[in-house]
Amino acid sequence: MKEDELIQRLTAGAPANKRLRLGPGDDCAVLDCDAPGLWELFKTDAVVEGVHFEPDADPGLVGRKALARCLSDIAAMGGTPSAALVTLGLPSPPDTARLEALYRGLYALAREYEVAVAGGETVAGAGRLFLSVAALGFVEKERCVLRRGARPGDALFVTGELGGSIAGKHLTFEPRVREARWLTNRFALHAMMDLSDGLASDLPRLLRASGVGAELFAEALPLSRAAKVRFRSGATRKRPLEAALTDGEDYELLFAVASKDAVPLLDAWKEAFPETRLSCIGKITSGGGMTIRERKSVRRMELNGYDHLTQS
Ligand SMILES: [Mg+2]
Repeated sequence: MKEDELIQRLTAGAPANKRLRLGPGDDCAVLDCDAPGLWELFKTDAVVEGVHFEPDADPGLVGRKALARCLSDIAAMGGTPSAALVTLGLPSPPDTARLEALYRGLYALAREYEVAVAGGETVAGAGRLFLSVAALGFVEKERCVLRRGARPGDALFVTGELGGSIAGKHLTFEPRVREARWLTNRFALHAMMDLSDGLASDLPRLLRASGVGAELFAEALPLSRAAKVRFRSGATRKRPLEAALTDGEDYELLFAVASKDAVPLLDAWKEAFPETRLSCIGKITSGGGMTIRERKSVRRMELNGYDHLTQS
């Protein structure tokens, strides 16, 4: 069974109450916290040794990644992160120096984003090391961006570059909190999510939520240098285009805006974030599904992104 199907089965009939504004299926849950004009955002994420990081990975970067993944999801809603709880699965025997380095990396990122690490829990005898982070954030109601809301004719954008993140970016990526705050302050985004499983897996989730389709322009996809180097050196057989679509762990923002905003947005972005690429990669269509246009040929996309259940 695919991960999406399993999640759908497990979350069917999940209890709700009057505080819950948006349940499973978006980047974060949205809660009414009785603060005028604000929604509360709630997210949990985990990194597991052997799945999300190799046993010899720099522990400081592993701790950093565990929190950064949550911050990326809060950014994807247009929000500001505020607090986190950390659950640590302890292998036995625990390596104290390694665990301290892990927390140092996590705390450094938390300080950078003014996130309070407000508590946590340890689980002994977990077999392998894992870190689970639950994070809170908040967002002005009018700036909260969901996956649903993309409309036919919208321009589709992605920040940064895609593919090849296994070469290092999957541990060192910067969650796009500042960029998302900037975007929602200036433009009416119709839909947004962060890319964790690869464009070919994640974009269909946004399209399904919005009840629309998309046409991608292959030449416009921002192929990462890492994906090109890995292909040329023989480290992977995936062409950079395929890597950009399917590698996953890009942690970039994918969003849709009215086509009239596309050019003003690109111009303002270059001023605000000269170091970070922003690419218009396609447009939203009324028909369902996703097509990719490569020069003159148009083909239906049949690529699958990184799926944690089918990989293993
Ligand atoms: Mg996400």
